[in-house]
Amino acid sequence: MKENPSRISLILIIVIVFPTLFFSGYELNTLSSNEAVVDSIYASQLKNLTVSVNQYSVDVLTRWADEFDDLSLIDKSGEEDSIFKLLSYHQAVRGVFYNDKRQVSRSFIDSAYQEIYSIDIQTLNHQLLKEDSVINKLEQYINNGYRKIQKLEINDEFASYYLYAIKTKDRQVKTAGLIIDKKAFVTEVLAPKLQSMAQSHFIISVLAGSEVIFSNHQDFTQAGNVRLAESLWLLDNYQIGVQILNDPVEQMIKKRTRSNIIMIIIMDVILLLGAFFIYRSLRQQLKLAQLKSEFISNVSHELKTPLALISMYSETLQMNRIPTEEKKMEYFGVINKEAQRLMRMVTKILNFSKMESGMRTFTFVETDLNDIVHRVIGTYKYHFKNAGFEYSVDYDYELPFISADEEAVADAISNLIDNGIKYSKETKKIEIKTGIRNDKVFVAVKDYGIGIKEKAQKHVFDKFYRVTDGNLALHAKGSGIGLNIVKTVITAHHGNVKLDSKFGEGSTFTLLFPEA
Ligand code: ADP
Repeated sequence: MKENPSRISLILIIVIVFPTLFFSGYELNTLSSNEAVVDSIYASQLKNLTVSVNQYSVDVLTRWADEFDDLSLIDKSGEEDSIFKLLSYHQAVRGVFYNDKRQVSRSFIDSAYQEIYSIDIQTLNHQLLKEDSVINKLEQYINNGYRKIQKLEINDEFASYYLYAIKTKDRQVKTAGLIIDKKAFVTEVLAPKLQSMAQSHFIISVLAGSEVIFSNHQDFTQAGNVRLAESLWLLDNYQIGVQILNDPVEQMIKKRTRSNIIMIIIMDVILLLGAFFIYRSLRQQLKLAQLKSEFISNVSHELKTPLALISMYSETLQMNRIPTEEKKMEYFGVINKEAQRLMRMVTKILNFSKMESGMRTFTFVETDLNDIVHRVIGTYKYHFKNAGFEYSVDYDYELPFISADEEAVADAISNLIDNGIKYSKETKKIEIKTGIRNDKVFVAVKDYGIGIKEKAQKHVFDKFYRVTDGNLALHAKGSGIGLNIVKTVITAHHGNVKLDSKFGEGSTFTLLFPEA
């Protein structure tokens, strides 16, 4: 089955990316469920706390109701004094009232409190009328020997009102009520209780909206910062909130959550980067495999042409059908030329394969680059003439010596000249120049051929790479290893190759060597 990059990306997505994202999502979900566990611990702690605080409030109010009820049994003369005495004794109780036929018949209200907060008896009467069934129930309870405290629904920011049933001296059943200062109730009655409940394990705060009425935490700005809050049903608009102090479980979970999130992110990044690198490397391998198979077909093609010519000419010679000696010589010449071409091809491929396997060794000697160029040109003179090429060589005779493997450098220059010839069209001209530039000794091979597009320029030194657009580039014979050999040779000489090319105008390849 043919693999292609989109198939690879699909496999990588299925095998790596999906599982990574799925696992991360699952882990993050588990982490948030840990948070939920902590929340539920809070919720149950708070529930217990609220229930017991409410129960305690009811107990206190019932006790106070009992105390005031006892007073209603004493003589009228002493009653008023005793009531006020009791009022001043219980700071949170700011008033008491007695009802007759669903109306306030008598009321005793702390005068200082009345001055500031003006308790409105009218509203109280109005509400009492509405509470008929509640009052009946309270009276029924007291007849059965049980006292219940009932909160009245009166909208008052500072006070709460409670009803309870009493039995008068003449054994009549009536109702009475307590007026409680909510803030004072919290600070004087609930505070010690909350303090003992909280100990050093919790922050417990009583809040009225955003105002902190009480907290066992010294820092009130922290006090409002409770994790969960529940209503105190005996005190309108008051809430009780709780925060576990230095909870080791919560801190452990928080720490674990943080480190788990960091680990998940690091793991995701590593896996996704891994997937990306695998994808890139596979894509390169595929590209290389494709180039290799093209290379094999190109090389076979290149080998076939000289072999066919050699075979044809030698056959003709063997049949002895050539009339003149001169013609015979011409045929021998062709056979020789083609055999040389084959030789060059095979040498090139062997050199490349040696370099690939790291087996090619270089023998460096101090040498004059001009000499090498001169020798290479010598082998091309005949070829240039045959192919109709004009050529020029411009030697710089001041060149310092370079340390080079002469054969390898000659190979590299030959490859450049071969390409110059192969990729030229109308203007058949090759210019070779030696010189020194920025302390580097160079030889440049310039042609006026088809040139190389900018985007292909950075690839031409890659192995097996060939430009495939443009008629000549496509049809010129080649294997895509020539420039790779050049690059490898020059790199082994600690030098570099420079390419200047303009598409349609020609190319200059410059080999630069360090001085010996
Ligand atoms: P090839 O055997 O195909 O010539 P090379 O490695 O020598 O392989 O060159 C790689 C590619 O670079 C060539 O296929 C060609 O497209 C381009 N190229 C190399 N030299 C020249 C040049 N002088 N002018 C234009 N294109 C060139």
